[in-house]
Amino acid sequence: MVVVMAPEATQEDIDSIVELVRLAGGEAFVSRGVSRTIVGLVGDVADFEALNLGSRAGVQSVMRVSVPFKLVSREHHPERSVIGVGGVRIGPDTLSVIAGPCAVETPEQTLAAALMAKAAGASLLRGGAFKPRTSPYSFQGLGEAGLRILADVRAETGLPVVTEVIEPGSVEMVASYADMLQIGARNMQNFALLQAVGSTGKPVLLKRGFNATIEEWLSAAEYIAQRGCLDIVLCERGIRTFEPATRNTLDISAVPVAQRLSHLPVVVDPSHAGGRRDLVLPLTRAAIAVGADGIIVDVHPDPKSALCDGDQALMASDLRELADLVTMLSSLMGRSVARPAVDQAATVG
Ligand code: PEP
Ligand code: MN
Repeated sequence: MVVVMAPEATQEDIDSIVELVRLAGGEAFVSRGVSRTIVGLVGDVADFEALNLGSRAGVQSVMRVSVPFKLVSREHHPERSVIGVGGVRIGPDTLSVIAGPCAVETPEQTLAAALMAKAAGASLLRGGAFKPRTSPYSFQGLGEAGLRILADVRAETGLPVVTEVIEPGSVEMVASYADMLQIGARNMQNFALLQAVGSTGKPVLLKRGFNATIEEWLSAAEYIAQRGCLDIVLCERGIRTFEPATRNTLDISAVPVAQRLSHLPVVVDPSHAGGRRDLVLPLTRAAIAVGADGIIVDVHPDPKSALCDGDQALMASDLRELADLVTMLSSLMGRSVARPAVDQAATVG
């Protein structure tokens, strides 16, 4: 249920709605938009109806939220959200490039990939230390040693780090190194994990499961939001279809659909969607043109030797083209390319 406050509602009016809802055993989330303030209610609808909120001072209307994901819905929060990650703003006015190796392998490889990411215009570094591999015989990641490498590379490059966490028991430890926690496609419905990351206070990158509907994806985001974390970025990374020519099928329409249903930013991963280097730039073009709030791409200094997903990693020779594409298309879409905080500080200072 949401309570839409009238434009002339006072702070006292809003506070009294929040108080009534709490006394009725529910939770109230206030979101202030440019044109109106909305109070989203979570709890027993029958209890809220008994409060007769529509007749209270400052209330314009009371609506039932029709979707099963409430906190992340646009009914609850009509303005599109901007999520801050280590000083980088991801949202409707910017285009964020997240880049880095699929997996952290060595300090040298990770630093080289981070420098490639910077050259490609990235403001955030991606890299997995815990890899949820389809086969148990594939490289599983360096674990905490990989996180230490990421922290060192962040200190050297100034790029905030996005890294995956794969089980609830290691969430606190991964969060102590990461600027943003990634939930991978394979764990999108690991509800205990979603709740654990939602409790850390760190922003979350939530990848869409390759067999998940958009409603299931947004409901997964709701598990995180329910734990008090609304700093969530959704990532479309391709879904499984009958077509074997690409690793997955990039569901390009999921971007505007999710953006209409949810206030959260939506980024696209063209690397894991196509699974092929030659498709990364064309899919990036499509993603930006359809309105994605950013892209996340794999880069590797020597893809032939990569321990994970080398076929889809961009090489140094691809970066100029990617950077030019991002600059050109972002201005066409009325967005500025998000920049790392270190660069912003350099400009200000
Ligand atoms: C990744 O980004 O490293 C990854 C494993 O992707 P996904 O979860 O989308 O397969
Ligand atoms: Mn990968």
